[in-house]
Amino acid sequence: MNFFCPICWKEIRGDDIRCPYCGSDITEHEKKSFEEKLINALRHPERETVQRAVWVLGKLKSIKSLEPLKILFEQTDNPFLEIEILNALAEIATHDALDIIMSALDSEESIVRRKAREIIEKRIVDKGWI
Ligand SMILES: [Zn+2]
Repeated sequence: MNFFCPICWKEIRGDDIRCPYCGSDITEHEKKSFEEKLINALRHPERETVQRAVWVLGKLKSIKSLEPLKILFEQTDNPFLEIEILNALAEIATHDALDIIMSALDSEESIVRRKAREIIEKRIVDKGWI
């Protein structure tokens, strides 16, 4: 099993108390909430970990993750991650989440545009949002 510093994301040993690279107190980080850890995981170097964190944050309907998800959406050029983010935003389902989904209608990737349209159309049908 690999361990990563939750702050700088360099690989560390599982029994490290402080990160040997950035000096962060790992045990302090352990006290953070599950939600905060997931938000930190959005910067993880392994794509699968990021993808999983996005999915769980959606299931948790994490309002706190909206801004980090928005930044990640703007920064990534991976359409599959963008779609995962759109799915999470659809779960969170606040007006701010909708704004981000709306902005995806202008995406250069057709699969991303299609997903955004699909979510918005479904919301209109299910009422609630618009
Ligand atoms: Zn570190």
